[in-house]
Amino acid sequence: MPLRFNFCPHCNEKIRFKIEKEDIDPSQYPAPVYIYHNDKSCGKLSTFYVDSLLRVSYKELEKKAGAIKTIETQK
Ligand SMILES: [Zn+2]
Repeated sequence: MPLRFNFCPHCNEKIRFKIEKEDIDPSQYPAPVYIYHNDKSCGKLSTFYVDSLLRVSYKELEKKAGAIKTIETQK
């Protein structure tokens, strides 16, 4: 289960989350997944797009269509 480090596009804090193949729809890459920043000071949702190796390609502030799962960031 790959562990990814990135930054929340809302608050720019460092985040980490685990992602698996089952978390995305592989019919199209980059594939969207919702990332919930599980932190009291933020608590916002954004959309991250990952490639076939589950590496983050880019991200959007908004909740975009097409994701099949919401992943909470780890503390
Ligand atoms: Zn945040």
